[in-house]
Amino acid sequence: DSPARGGAAVRESLCCCEPPDAAFPVRRDTAVTALLTAVSARPAAQQPPWPHQFEVDDVEAELAELPGLTTEAEVDDLAGAMTLVARGDALVLQGGDCAERLHEAVPDLVRRKVDYLQGLAAMMRAASGLPSVAVGRLAGQYGKPRSSPYEPSPTDPGLRMVAYCGDAVNAPEPEPPQRVPNPRRLRAAYDSAQAVLREVRRASRGKPPAERVHVAHELLLLPYERPLVRAGAQGPFTTSTHFGWIGERTRALPGAHVALAAGLRNPIGVKIGPTATPDDVVALTRALNPEGLPGKLCLITRYGAGEVDRLLPGVAKAVARHGTPVVWLCDPMHGNGLKIAGTKTRLVEDILTEVATFVKVLSGLRLRPSGLHLELTPDPVTECVSPQDAEPSFPDYRSTCDPRLNPEQSVAVIAHFLDRLS
Ligand code: PEP
Ligand code: MN
Repeated sequence: DSPARGGAAVRESLCCCEPPDAAFPVRRDTAVTALLTAVSARPAAQQPPWPHQFEVDDVEAELAELPGLTTEAEVDDLAGAMTLVARGDALVLQGGDCAERLHEAVPDLVRRKVDYLQGLAAMMRAASGLPSVAVGRLAGQYGKPRSSPYEPSPTDPGLRMVAYCGDAVNAPEPEPPQRVPNPRRLRAAYDSAQAVLREVRRASRGKPPAERVHVAHELLLLPYERPLVRAGAQGPFTTSTHFGWIGERTRALPGAHVALAAGLRNPIGVKIGPTATPDDVVALTRALNPEGLPGKLCLITRYGAGEVDRLLPGVAKAVARHGTPVVWLCDPMHGNGLKIAGTKTRLVEDILTEVATFVKVLSGLRLRPSGLHLELTPDPVTECVSPQDAEPSFPDYRSTCDPRLNPEQSVAVIAHFLDRLS
């Protein structure tokens, strides 16, 4: 464990726009060590089939010696904003790619994403009169959970290949050799995340605090997440991001991901889908926000347009009665996947329905719909399809994973949310 050499003095000199650097020592203390031991003792779902564990261990050790990507001051800044959200004094917009690409960590592209997200948050602010906290699926959204770990090779259906698990693991090209998980990619993910954060900070500089963009990703790949947990003044926090969420496939209460998120002081989220019972969700709120801190935990519901009306009321009532405080966000994307002509897509109509039902159900229970979690891009892609597309075609499909909303569709979804809110 590295001693906290001059840690407090260094921290005080950092404003939240300044990146951590070599002067910021790698800090792990007994609380961090205890957390990492607890995480490692639990079963970890959705870890890729790495060919050689010793190579993964080497990268994990390497990451443990690198500076944290985010600072405690930045995490505190977001935590402060989330307490406003919990009080009903601000809204949240989380959005970005389903899967970020490592090679897209270049200033122009990142700037485009950040400016776009800020523009959407400004639109929310203008329409609602409330500040909107913009959180990008950015600077770390490089690992993907999969419903099936293998798939048939398209060129030789007798051969199976590893599913694409995000750029931190393998390449999306549908060729078996490209799909072999390569642990060096975890290090490349760190480098890309660092480059993205540099640009996010540059974009936020000089802007009022209400327009700062923060970053988030799914806390999925443990050899990446564990070494980036560091000691903070108020306990362990992850320096891999500002906000981390647990996915629908890794939210088992006894699992490693819940243990990890439970030990962090960052604001966190957990995706809630149709298989989560009210008791499961109550237990998650108690495990992930035991002190009942306002703004600490977001429940990001993703039921699908056909299920949200049936399933959200029971869960919301149980959490309100027996759980600890939560912020309710709607992910209207992940419960609405379908295939048209072999292509993964989502109907904008279903997305709008889920958003409207989410607002209706929570408002009816006197609970607060606080925002959206979307997969979106500033590019004019044709990945999700609109009701008017009688025979959808996908002339501009770029996502390597799930289909995203293009600008016109994103604006329609956000406007629909704001409209129902008022
Ligand atoms: C995602 O956010 O890309 C994702 C996989 O979501 P979920 O865990 O809700 O399926
Ligand atoms: Mn996705």
